Amino acid sequence: MQKGNIGVTTENIFPVIKKFLYSDHEIFLREIVSNAVDATQKLKTLATKGELKEDMGNLSVHVSVDKDAKTITVSDHGIGMTEEEIEKYINQIAFSGANDFLDKYKEDANAIIGHFGLGFYSSFMVSKEVEIVTKSWQEGAQAVKWNCDGSPSYTIEPSDKTERGTDIIMHIDDDCQEFVDENKISELLHKYCRFLPIPVIFGKKKDWKDGKQIDTEEDNVINDTTPLWTKKPSDLKDEDYLKFYHDLYPMNDDPLFWIHLNVDFPFHLTGVLYFPKIKSNLDLQRNKIQLYCNQVFVTDNVEGIVPEFLMLLHGVIDSPDIPLNVSRSYLQSDANVKKISTYITKKVSDRLQSIFNKDRSDFEKKWDDIKLFIHYGMLSTEDFFDKAKKFSLLKDCNGKFFTYDEYNTLIKDNQTNKDGQLVYLYANDKDEQYSYIETANNKGYNVLLMDGQLDTPLVSLLERKLEKTTFTRVDADTIDRLIVKDTDTPEAVDVNDRTTLNAIFTSILPKLDKTEFNVDPQALGETTVPVMITRNEYMRRMKEMARLQPGMAFYGEMPDMYNVVLNTNHKLIKKILEDTHNNTAEELKPIMAELKGLEARKAVLKQQQDSKKAEDITQEEKDDLSQCEKDITAQHDKEKEVLSNYAKNNKIIAQLVDLALLQNGMLKGEALNNFVKRSIDLI
Ligand code: ADP
Repeated sequence: MQKGNIGVTTENIFPVIKKFLYSDHEIFLREIVSNAVDATQKLKTLATKGELKEDMGNLSVHVSVDKDAKTITVSDHGIGMTEEEIEKYINQIAFSGANDFLDKYKEDANAIIGHFGLGFYSSFMVSKEVEIVTKSWQEGAQAVKWNCDGSPSYTIEPSDKTERGTDIIMHIDDDCQEFVDENKISELLHKYCRFLPIPVIFGKKKDWKDGKQIDTEEDNVINDTTPLWTKKPSDLKDEDYLKFYHDLYPMNDDPLFWIHLNVDFPFHLTGVLYFPKIKSNLDLQRNKIQLYCNQVFVTDNVEGIVPEFLMLLHGVIDSPDIPLNVSRSYLQSDANVKKISTYITKKVSDRLQSIFNKDRSDFEKKWDDIKLFIHYGMLSTEDFFDKAKKFSLLKDCNGKFFTYDEYNTLIKDNQTNKDGQLVYLYANDKDEQYSYIETANNKGYNVLLMDGQLDTPLVSLLERKLEKTTFTRVDADTIDRLIVKDTDTPEAVDVNDRTTLNAIFTSILPKLDKTEFNVDPQALGETTVPVMITRNEYMRRMKEMARLQPGMAFYGEMPDMYNVVLNTNHKLIKKILEDTHNNTAEELKPIMAELKGLEARKAVLKQQQDSKKAEDITQEEKDDLSQCEKDITAQHDKEKEVLSNYAKNNKIIAQLVDLALLQNGMLKGEALNNFVKRSIDLI
């Protein structure tokens, strides 16, 4: 028997390995099983080259748990190792590699808790002692047994192993006993090894007999050695893709469609990505794209490798060219990784374009399910926007779909305003904005339905990207002002009537928290409703953006601004004005007379002061003018009070205001109750 010290400078590397890798202990199994698979594949290569003299025999890898001995054993029939090879690969190389690694990441323990191949030595994360019993494929090779108890010293001695291949026997540490459990190992094999290219056997298939689980004669092969993504797309049918999808995500509905990735240059990458049917936000978090490296599961955290918007997709990516033994921040700057991300983005947009070209109606049917991905991509990835603008759809309130170009052609003639801007009208809620949509449709305008989660930022993006285009929500203004086609709109009413309408309606409008109403008389024609409420587009959008972006919280605090539009052509508004005049004239007379006098006095004072240089105006004169202005304001207040006292007792005004509020879903609780009572009274 030979003894020696492992080529390592750090006195005791094992505690370091254990500590640093605490969160990822379970990967030891992946590392040991993939070494076994590698050794087996190397043997196959030798055989195809004709270098192997003997029969290959059964090449399966076996994993077993011995509960009593507290060991886990991984056995293969691969190339095995000679004593020299153990010296070279186990005693020297692996350790120096580990050493470099730990040196490099001493400062940054978090960077280590990523994924990397510490290979064989990761077995010491869970073992107090590891044995290697191995016999090389080379003719006449002596089998050897290597043993190491976790200190830097090891022993190596001849073994009587007769079969070619390697057994790795791990004596599990007392504080890692959870791994000495068939269910646990089965779970880990399923997670990391289910698509390895060499059959991995874990015990026997189970069966139920007399209410008990028993082993059958059949080996329990835990993996599919040729998973779907390794096959040629031309050999696969839709059923195969669907079956694979359901194997990966058993709880999910059928995916909408999929993309088979296959690239050899300038990097290697295969995989299949699925567009899932998303039922809730929960689905998005639960199921993820899985990343493999030569069919070995690495992670389902593909952040930095796949563009963010495609992380919502499902499926598998397999690439040996993604550096796994580095931190995430490094990943993002890696040239290969960048290329991979660009490639995937391009593949996805090409595929969407081809589905769009081939079967537009199918694409339209799926649109509501895929628009989230597409909009997310357009918002986050410039390249993707340029591609997607050709197949991204707009849907109108009648359920019709248009590409951006088609829509432009559709509305060009009728929805261009006086400044040459194309006005895209839209609604967020078909029911809530029903009457506005109808009015717009009657005018020959098309109204888009923008009810998606990302439509608010999308609208801003499209305004920036599409030429001479503005989006206006259909309730942002009265129909003639939504798309202003000529400049000279005549005044709806004279100044006095405007003041009167303002005073009486303002006094009736509810006082709501963070809500401001602005009364706005307009001549809208006899057939248009007497009162309607519109909502300032700019403020509304700022508030919506504020909800999505924390940095804009300031806007969220601003009041909601509504325009209460009074149609001065409508007979009810005319009648209200007339009644108000008739009923308040007497009371207003003295106030009006007083006002007249004050206005005249103010005019004289102003004139006098205007003719003087600023420094020649005396304080007394200044005070006179300001007193006069105060008196005018006081009289106006009196006027308003008279008007509002009258308005309070006019049921028609209250009724009209409530109807407009009701139409906007703003009439609630007690106010709604009062409205109903008043309606009955009026009937
Ligand atoms: P890596 O697999 O990344 O090279 P490891 O530390 O896992 O690093 O293994 C070091 C070397 O030991 C391998 O490259 C291989 O040559 C040898 N080795 C490990 N396990 C086996 C095995 N089961 N059969 C044959 N050789 C093995």
